[in-house]
Amino acid sequence: MREQLTRETTANVYLVLFSLSVLLNIFLLCQHFSFHSPSRPSSTISELSWTRRAAAEAEAVAAISCSGHGRAYVDGVLDNWRPTCECNTCYIGSDCSVLLSNCSADVDSGDPLFLEPYWMQHAAKGAVVLSGWHRMSYSTTDHFKSLELENHIRLLHAAVGNAITDGKYLVFGTGSTQLINALVYALSPENTSSPASVVATVPYYPMYKEQTELFNGRDYEWEGATAKWRNSNKTNFVEFVTSPNNPDCLLCDSVLGGSSVIYDHAYYWPHFTAIPEPADGDVMIFTVSKLSGHAGSRFGWAFIKDENVYNKVSNYLQYNSMGASRDTQSRIFNYVKVILAEIGSNADIFEFGFNKLRKRWQRLQALVNSSSRFSLQQLSPQYCTYFKKIRDPSPAYAWLKCENEEDADCAEVLMKGGIISRGGTKFGSSTQYTRLSLLKTDDNFEMLLQKFKPLVASSDENTSEISSF
Ligand code: PMP
Repeated sequence: MREQLTRETTANVYLVLFSLSVLLNIFLLCQHFSFHSPSRPSSTISELSWTRRAAAEAEAVAAISCSGHGRAYVDGVLDNWRPTCECNTCYIGSDCSVLLSNCSADVDSGDPLFLEPYWMQHAAKGAVVLSGWHRMSYSTTDHFKSLELENHIRLLHAAVGNAITDGKYLVFGTGSTQLINALVYALSPENTSSPASVVATVPYYPMYKEQTELFNGRDYEWEGATAKWRNSNKTNFVEFVTSPNNPDCLLCDSVLGGSSVIYDHAYYWPHFTAIPEPADGDVMIFTVSKLSGHAGSRFGWAFIKDENVYNKVSNYLQYNSMGASRDTQSRIFNYVKVILAEIGSNADIFEFGFNKLRKRWQRLQALVNSSSRFSLQQLSPQYCTYFKKIRDPSPAYAWLKCENEEDADCAEVLMKGGIISRGGTKFGSSTQYTRLSLLKTDDNFEMLLQKFKPLVASSDENTSEISSF
């Protein structure tokens, strides 16, 4: 009898311990999943079914390291059913491990791959999963626009303090490139014998000229540099003001002071510049290409004060592309949410971008300043309302000048030294200048410094030869 009692008690103890252990495990599992994914109901985690294959494929491809000098993509070219590595410039081989000898440093384009490591470090935050029936329709929440993306973009500007968006309409474009012509069209007078003159201040971003000339029509035409029109009586200008400017990264304002100014604020984010105050132009363009680095997603936006201008831009976008890709909008929605949520944390993308570009600028500046052959644009530390301190420059581009008479074509001089840059004439400036992109991969930047060193050193030899005469 006593023995049976003891056996029952032991069994009960085991039952209680077992139940407690089950409860503890359930609790820990809930904790684990709710920590990693606060917005997702924890019950669905164990029920994941159709996302598993896609998630496994995405992770497997992302795990292909390509020796750190390239990357593989789920839609990359297949070799043996496996996506192949796409290598950074100057690297080759199936795993991008072979460094080409005598390869030029390519610092021509503004490809914002300096932010790629940010998204690799925060892989879980950047992942986006979409169903096969995700937004198949032509229309979305607000005709062509995701309303939540619009809300989050406005919240982001408010949090960063780089733009006043209240009382302004918002349009989405297939990159801000699409919005450039949409706005020129919308700001030009209709049915007039004198078309609007589209202008920008030298050195200017070449796309304004190239696109306006491509579409030169009855209502607007490319009329070149603002300097030409400073003292003229002409009135109907559409002036592009790029601030910070591409290529010299200076904060700028309108030169002609007319009513139709398009402020291109592609680089008005704390990675690239101090934010002295929020921008408040009547027409302001921004792009995700330089905010999160997702240039391939092709997404830009513009704030527009005037309702008529907004309606004309909306019409243009309707007839041109029927709005920005809904898939892109979903992807960008995720990035804007992440960027917003991480402001001030140790995953703050602006802090990351700023530190990376500041270091690049300092290293290049030290090299350029070591000789008198070249010079760079003058940038000074400035108070930034975002970082709440005086911060060093961290420009997207170096606007390099060749100081010697015999180096009349600076891009050519660099080309001979193994550096592919973008020559000054493209920006309406002279051949004495050339632009070096500081936005690309670490590989590109390291190669730039490597190729630049002998150019500076050879100038020192020249200088000592000259001074010894
Ligand atoms: N404006 C400026 C000043 C730029 O530098 C760029 C890109 N280099 C753009 C617009 C176009 O950006 P997107 O990728 O959004 O078309």
